Order: sequence, then structure tokens, then C-alpha cells
Amino acid sequence: MTIDVVLLGTGNPLPDRDRAGAATLVRAGGRTLLFDAGRGVCLRLVAAGVLPVMLDAVILTHLHSDHICDLNDVVTTQWVMSPAPKSLRIFGPPRTREVIDGLRAMLRPDVEYRLAHHADLTWEPQLDVIEATPGVVVDEDGLRVVAARTDHRPVEPTLGYRVELDGKAVVIAGDTVPCAGLDELCADADVYVQTVLRDDLVRMVPMQRFVDTIDYHSTVAQAAQTAARGGVRTLVLTHQVPTPGIGAADEWIAVAREHFDGEIVFGEDLASISA
Ligand SMILES: [Zn+2]
Ligand SMILES: [Zn+2]
Repeated sequence: MTIDVVLLGTGNPLPDRDRAGAATLVRAGGRTLLFDAGRGVCLRLVAAGVLPVMLDAVILTHLHSDHICDLNDVVTTQWVMSPAPKSLRIFGPPRTREVIDGLRAMLRPDVEYRLAHHADLTWEPQLDVIEATPGVVVDEDGLRVVAARTDHRPVEPTLGYRVELDGKAVVIAGDTVPCAGLDELCADADVYVQTVLRDDLVRMVPMQRFVDTIDYHSTVAQAAQTAARGGVRTLVLTHQVPTPGIGAADEWIAVAREHFDGEIVFGEDLASISA
């Protein structure tokens, strides 16, 4: 039994032609889980062979726009493609309900149009919102998802997740600096997916708003140090800031390599990693 990870979107908040927004697919124990739902998530889901109706849950690390901006597309597509009422579970930190209420309001005209048009569509999107707290959030047929508090202040609270199956573990950390909760998640993990930033490059950009992002993301070096501390097998660098140029992978990996001996994957959209 494996845990299969597909990087659906490895982009940062700035649009890029080759990188969709933050989103990661995890398939394990017959379940299909979507972590975050950034720009272009449905396109990438389909490319990975998954339609939104096939999702067992959407799990949000935090409510920054680059991690949720296409959640409405997931919700609508799941709804219109369901032959019968099917609920979509959405886990996320406190205030997720507020976001979903807003999303329902945004979709209100569309939902009314479609209900009026299709005789066989008699239900609204069935959204089951669960505001998660640290601890076990999913425990089904040997598959566990454990949440821990991460540190992306002033964005708070934020959550990182550890997916466990049959002695394997995959960590989807989200945006965070190194912290105790992240170390808990990463202990002996097979795969650790971390959103990262190159502070040496960001500092060279003459724009304070961009430089501000250094203080609430793991640098590549910090991600590698977290991986080494946890004894993880594979470190996956995603959501790279600033957007790497063509052929930059080796340089990014070299920065991580100074602190971590294990396998290092420089994330590209639709790359898959198994634990
Ligand atoms: Zn963020
Ligand atoms: Zn982000």
C-alpha cells in the first residue's frame, strides 16, 4: 500500500504560464484527497486523472488566496457532475466556514440558474465544512490525516497535515516557518512537501511588499534543516518564491543539499512522488 502524491500546482501567488497555484493531490487507501485549491486546480486535477466528483475531501492548510482561489471551481464542478446529491467535505482551519459562506453567496446566481434549468438537478452544492484543530482529522480504513499547528503569522491559525497509511507518512506542510508543530508532523516521514522561498534572491528585489514574504515562509535551507531534523526520506520543494527560471532546479537543490542528505525533489507541476 502506497501513498501517492501529485504536485498539481507548484506556483506562487504570481501567475505563471507553467505553474498552477498551490494544490497537492494525495491518493492513499482508496481515498483521494486534495490539499489546497489554488489557481488552475481543476485543470491539473483532470491532468492527473481526477475529476472533482472523485474527491473524498478537500483539505486546506490556510485561507490565503493563492491556496483557495479556485475552490469555487472545485465546488461547482463537483456539484454539476454529481448524478445524485453527494457531499464534498472541506476541512480547514478556523474561519473556513466564513470563506465557504462567502463562496456560496458568490455562487448563488449560478446555482439558481442551474436549478431552474435542469429538472433532474434538485439540490444545491452539498458542502460539509469541518473546521479542524490539531490532532486526528480523518481516520478511515487505516488512513489517517493528522493536523498540527504551523507558523505563518500574521496568518493564523494555519495547519500542516500528515497523511499516514500502513506505516508510511507524507507531510503536506503548507506555508510555514520551522516550528514545533511542523517538526511533529515530519518525524520519520517518508515524504515532506514544503512551500519554499529563496531569501537570498527575494532580498534582491527592490520592492518591500515582496521582501515582506521572507518572514513567514520556510527558506530552502530551513526546509532542508526541518527535513534533516525529522529524518525524512524525501524533501519536495514546491510553491517556489521567486519563480525559478528554466534550468534553476540544480541550484535550488544545491542550496537544500547543504543541509539534507536525503532525496530532494524540485517540484514541477504534475510531478508524482510515492511513499
Ligand atoms: Zn500563505
Ligand atoms: Zn502561499
